[in-house]
Amino acid sequence: MGGEIPYRDYTFILHLRANTGGGLEHLNSTALGFRRFSFTPETSYRSFLTLVAHEFFHLWNVKRIRPDALGPFDYTKENYTKLLWVAEGITSYYENLITRRAGLVTDKEFLANAARAFQNLQRTPGRLIMSTEEASFDSWIKYYRQDENSINSQVDYYDKGAILGLLLDLEIRKRSNGAKSLDDVMRYLYGEFFEKNRNYTPADFQKASEMMAGSSLQEFFAKYVRGHEELDYNTALAAAGLRLDTGETSGTTRALEKAYLGAEVAQESDRLMVRRVYAGSPAYEQGLNTGDQILALDNRRVTKDFFDARLAEKRPGDLANVTIFRFDDLRSLPIKLGAFIDAPYRIIELATPSDEQRRIYQSWLGAPLVR
Ligand SMILES: [Zn+2]
Repeated sequence: MGGEIPYRDYTFILHLRANTGGGLEHLNSTALGFRRFSFTPETSYRSFLTLVAHEFFHLWNVKRIRPDALGPFDYTKENYTKLLWVAEGITSYYENLITRRAGLVTDKEFLANAARAFQNLQRTPGRLIMSTEEASFDSWIKYYRQDENSINSQVDYYDKGAILGLLLDLEIRKRSNGAKSLDDVMRYLYGEFFEKNRNYTPADFQKASEMMAGSSLQEFFAKYVRGHEELDYNTALAAAGLRLDTGETSGTTRALEKAYLGAEVAQESDRLMVRRVYAGSPAYEQGLNTGDQILALDNRRVTKDFFDARLAEKRPGDLANVTIFRFDDLRSLPIKLGAFIDAPYRIIELATPSDEQRRIYQSWLGAPLVR
């Protein structure tokens, strides 16, 4: 039955190490790694709590509710599945929801964390190239073999899967008028698959979600799970009387605008090297490459501090004359800078939420919706 605790004993094995972290789930235990002396400050302690919640949730999602190819395992070869966005991503959504439900974070902190996750995804050009299903299926050759262009060509099925979990949860709550949620999907899969000793497929997961929503989710899955369309945060958030403020619509937009290059640089001993170039950015479009060594900005020799400081003084539309070595060739690139809004995303309350939106907020986050 859904709702049961399917173990007699459960053991947390915690390894406190110098600087590594992570976890591995088992049927009735988990092995956790966490940085020793990292239980303060508060933000670091919270990452420990979400790690514990994540691995504990796996005892249901993955170890019992099993995606098609994940178990019983053939350890001699790769196991391919399109469902890691559910197995890992939705578990990552629940790590935050569980810590909220346990009262370890407030509803506002939960929403602030979600807003940061949305912003992080929107700064990843690869979100428009790779779907979460592809990210999952290709994890053997891509996710675990990242390179300097991964940000432009890939999406993280943990991060985007967690966001999809949030959007799907709200969609189900809205369509069922608050009667059902993603919890019901997980309970259904537990009863229909684990208890009948079956693994579920992508089609099964969609069907279970539609059953709880009470209508077709074909468009949601086609666009956001199998496809790589831009996510519609506001439609989902409106279900709970909320909206996303990206800073672009506020009256202070111009003041927040900063000059944008679109490259990450790093000091490597006495050289300033380009580590990453974001697709579509001024740096990308005007010829700067990963691996270029930057010698000068506007004809002055650079260190990272100097480069960052001079760039920060420029305005959108200004020219940056970047002198580089590409392999052994000297080049000069005049790059016209773009603009970006230097403001954190925020999830805020709608001006006049309906009773329905208030009810959904309350049942979702266990607190009243207040402005
Ligand atoms: Zn995991």
